[in-house]
Amino acid sequence: MTADARGAVVPCPSCGTRNRVPHGGTGRPRCASCHVDLPWLVDADDASFDDVVARAALPVLVDVWAAWCGPCRQLAPVVAKLADDYAGRLKVVKVDADASPQVSARHQVTGIPTLLLYHRGSELARQVGALPAEQLRRWLDEQLATRTAA
Ligand SMILES: [Zn+2]
Repeated sequence: MTADARGAVVPCPSCGTRNRVPHGGTGRPRCASCHVDLPWLVDADDASFDDVVARAALPVLVDVWAAWCGPCRQLAPVVAKLADDYAGRLKVVKVDADASPQVSARHQVTGIPTLLLYHRGSELARQVGALPAEQLRRWLDEQLATRTAA
């Protein structure tokens, strides 16, 4: 995936069309050709957190990680897969804890990896520490079902 200030170019998993997907805003990315929901996996930092996370209409899973953190590296592909599997239902946002000290301070993140589940500008739940893929998925399903129901 390539990314710049205007967004990332995401190939459609269904038809292969390359779509430009914005990092922020209130929308929900769909393929311009076949209209399937696209995976939404973006980076945020102190400056962009509110636009990318707090304003999003979809529930947002925020992965607070750092390059030196082994469990974070193990969790990264699991989190990336969630972005694919929950396309249209979940936005996944990576926050580098070292580059974004304000995000960590604001959320009182004391250990990493920390996963924050956000919806409509509020933190709904968090998971501190890496989980195996299946357990993480169960946690996420449960939180989405019980906390984000309209
Ligand atoms: Zn498509």
